[in-house]
Amino acid sequence: MAKIFCVANQKGGVGKTTTTVNLAAGLAKVGQRVLMVDLDPQGNATMGSGVDKRQLALTIYDVLLESASINEARVRSEKCGYDVLGANRELAGAEVEMVDIERREKRLKTALAEVQAQYDFILIDCPPSLSMLTLNGLCAAHGVVVPMQCEYFALEGLTDLVNTIKQVHANLNPDLAIIGLLRVMFDPRITLQQQVSDQLKAHFGNKVFDTVIPRNVRLAEAPSYGLPGVVFDPAAKGSQAYVEFAREMVERIKTL
Ligand code: ATP
Ligand code: MG
Repeated sequence: MAKIFCVANQKGGVGKTTTTVNLAAGLAKVGQRVLMVDLDPQGNATMGSGVDKRQLALTIYDVLLESASINEARVRSEKCGYDVLGANRELAGAEVEMVDIERREKRLKTALAEVQAQYDFILIDCPPSLSMLTLNGLCAAHGVVVPMQCEYFALEGLTDLVNTIKQVHANLNPDLAIIGLLRVMFDPRITLQQQVSDQLKAHFGNKVFDTVIPRNVRLAEAPSYGLPGVVFDPAAKGSQAYVEFAREMVERIKTL
């Protein structure tokens, strides 16, 4: 049975999508069966997995509105080695269209139940908001992976996310936990980043993943080739860090 993880942080541009696609590729590399779910109307994780969001006949939008099953809507990314449930701009309308639907926050959870046995990991790339879409992700997940940059305001933004996760845990999904905080775009030469990193560890202890993802230009270049860095340039420092992170995740789910 797959373990389901949201990659979430309501702050924009912190590395959610980069983490989702590279973790997916890293997990595939170490032999795990992975479904990557794009829950962001920007469709970056879809494109970054080599799937053209404009060409998709069915997306997560159809799944959330129950006009298609995941089995019908998912596609295989051969190059990346994992399955993709894609998204495009259409998904932005789902929020409004689902307003009158009962149990709307459980739509994704219900849909995933049908394919959960076919995977080891299901990773959900969340949009930069605490919206109905993110709520669907949090309701479906066992855990949340929070990528963050070690910057001054990073801790402040974390409070909102932690409170939301606590609320979802209390009211909608008792399975939900923060699996860990992932330090991304890390530059050890910057003293402030070291300090924030130390603060994070002091505050959150073993909830901070051991793996640190460095700032690495190859990770930023890869999406323009429709590939995660792990596939685009496996030798790059950033790619190696994500494969290491995949291994850490495999170990960590044994303790869940
Ligand atoms: P959004 O909130 O818009 O969904 P996001 O949190 O998904 O953004 P990404 O799109 O993954 O963030 O990353 C933001 C930018 O930072 C992208 O241009 C990406 O290529 C770059 N980036 C992410 N991680 C790294 C890294 N480790 N090194 C260098 N660049 C990175
Ligand atoms: Mg993103």
